[in-house]
Amino acid sequence: MSSPAPESNPSGAEVLLTGTVVAVQANYYQVQLDLPAPENGNTIPPSPTLLCTRRARLKKMGQQVMVGDRVVVEEPDWAGGRGAISQVLPRESELDRPPVANANQILLVFALEEPPLDTHQLSRFLVKAETTGLKICLCLNKSDLISPEQLQQWKERLAGWGYEPVCISVEADIALDELYTQLNEKITIVSGPSGVGKSSLINYLIPDINLRVGEVSGKLNRGRHTTRHVELFKLPAGGLLADTPGFNQPDLDCEPEDLALYFPEVQQRLAEGRCQFNDCLHADEPNCAVRGDWERYEHYLEFLAEAVILHDSLQQQADAESNMKMKSKRAGEQQYEPKLESKKYRRSSRRFQTQNIEDLHGDIEEV
Ligand code: GDP
Ligand code: ZN
Repeated sequence: MSSPAPESNPSGAEVLLTGTVVAVQANYYQVQLDLPAPENGNTIPPSPTLLCTRRARLKKMGQQVMVGDRVVVEEPDWAGGRGAISQVLPRESELDRPPVANANQILLVFALEEPPLDTHQLSRFLVKAETTGLKICLCLNKSDLISPEQLQQWKERLAGWGYEPVCISVEADIALDELYTQLNEKITIVSGPSGVGKSSLINYLIPDINLRVGEVSGKLNRGRHTTRHVELFKLPAGGLLADTPGFNQPDLDCEPEDLALYFPEVQQRLAEGRCQFNDCLHADEPNCAVRGDWERYEHYLEFLAEAVILHDSLQQQADAESNMKMKSKRAGEQQYEPKLESKKYRRSSRRFQTQNIEDLHGDIEEV
């Protein structure tokens, strides 16, 4: 079909048609346009989304298109609801798993009761979420099940961790407006264990979505909900929400020396004082500014031990592989095989943004 004349603004400059990719399937991209489609008789689809292909030029350049990407769309075919993505605008953030571009924050949902709030599990989820470098919005649901005094105690306790939770009840309609304003105009990834009320909350936020409450898995993208699949849902008042499957115990796969970055309490202590050693892991080193009597120090040490074990096993694997390569390269030749220093932790080269929170969600089978 012939392409319609580009729209112009009053100054005569061409107006680009821009939008956000809300779903990716095979080589098709569902793009939600920033503005409603121009009024044009009955040919306009009711919702301003177009099913788009990717221009061959982008494909040649190796330019991937992810959910959350801001894109320029050309040749809109309003009647057919089709278009072509000609440009991907620079990303502000990029998560690997789930694959989402430009996410602004993680909405971590836990329940205060039923199931009772497990601080150890919450701590794990928080640390995992912190590795993404995104803002964390901690939301505690089912506040209808505890007393105001208990609620206050939780708030104070979590303030000590460096978090200010929004305490809501989906069922009793408590503080939902407060939460809603935090999601406005943002791309938010919802996360949290099963049973805490995530589906109930998403149903409230996006009434059209109709999630089945009380189901163990499935959630938003029933039938194709794998950890690699993600879809953004539009909030009626603006903003987009990505749901992710529930999980129980996320793996922490950060470098031991990075762990401190993911505890606000550690950062606070490091801002106030200095450890004697620059590479202090805050475990048993002398003159450490972090070690001490704070609630989650125990969690810190536990996660640190896990990170060290993981680091060492990855290091051993890498050493074994490089030895194998060296051996096969110079088969038969006598050679010196250096023993690699395993105590010195290499700094992770991955940027925060490219770290993933998939482990938050475990391996979800296709349902
Ligand atoms: P999900 O697994 O995190 O998606 O949780 P669901 O939305 O399926 O909810 C699990 C259970 O918690 C359901 O029985 C809900 O009715 C219940 N529930 C959700 N929100 C609240 C709440 O604010 N208060 C109470 N008392 N129960 C809730
Ligand atoms: Zn220290």
